[in-house]
Amino acid sequence: MKGIVFLGNKNLEIQDFKDPTPGPNDVIIEIKASGMCGSDLKFYRANSGPSSLGLGGDDKPVIAGHEPCGVVVEIGSNVSKNTFYKGMRVMQHHYEGCGNCFHCSTGWQQLCNDGVKAVFGVTGNGAHAKYMRCPASTLVPLREEISFISGAAISCGTGTAWGALDRLSLKASQTIAIFGMGLSSRSSFNCWITDIDGWMNFGSNNS
Ligand SMILES: [Zn+2]
Ligand SMILES: [Zn+2]
Repeated sequence: MKGIVFLGNKNLEIQDFKDPTPGPNDVIIEIKASGMCGSDLKFYRANSGPSSLGLGGDDKPVIAGHEPCGVVVEIGSNVSKNTFYKGMRVMQHHYEGCGNCFHCSTGWQQLCNDGVKAVFGVTGNGAHAKYMRCPASTLVPLREEISFISGAAISCGTGTAWGALDRLSLKASQTIAIFGMGLSSRSSFNCWITDIDGWMNFGSNNS
C-alpha cells in the first residue's frame, strides 16, 4: 500500500509499505478519513524526523496521520469478538502503551507506566494510508450518524477541545472566552455553540 511520510523540512513523500497484519491484541482499520491536526505542522516543519523533536523513534519512514477514522477489517486472535467486529465504524486514539497498567486500562495510554511504545502517525505508522494496525484497546466506536470526516477530526483536535470543555462542567448560561485560533480553539468554539453531528450537545444538555 502507499503511505504519506513527512520527511522533515516541509517535504512529503508517498512511499510503499507492506499491508499491515494484526498482532494478537490488534485490529486493522481500513481508513476512510484521516485528519490533519495542528501538531502535524510541527512534524511537517521539523528539521528531520520525529526524533529531532524529542519524540523518540528511530527516524525510519513512518506513515503520518494521527486522526484515524475508518472500519475494522481484521481482528487479532485475542481480541474480544463480542466487542469488536469486522465492519465496525471506529475512531482511534493514537497512543500505544502496555495496555494493562492503570493508565492504559482507563484510556490514558499516553501516560503508560511502561512508557509509550508508539505514537501513531509520529513514531508508528499512522492513518495517511489505506490500512492501519493498532491495538483494539485504542479504538472508540463511531456512531452511524457521525461521518467519517467528523470522526477523524474528533480523534485528536476536536476530541482535545471537547475534553477541555467537559472538565469545566459548563452550563449553557455561562459565557466563556477561547484564546487562539488553532484547530483545538476553533473546535472548542464549535463544540460550544453547535451540535457536531448530533453528538456534542453541551448547550442543550445543560440548559
Ligand atoms: Zn493531534
Ligand atoms: Zn500501560
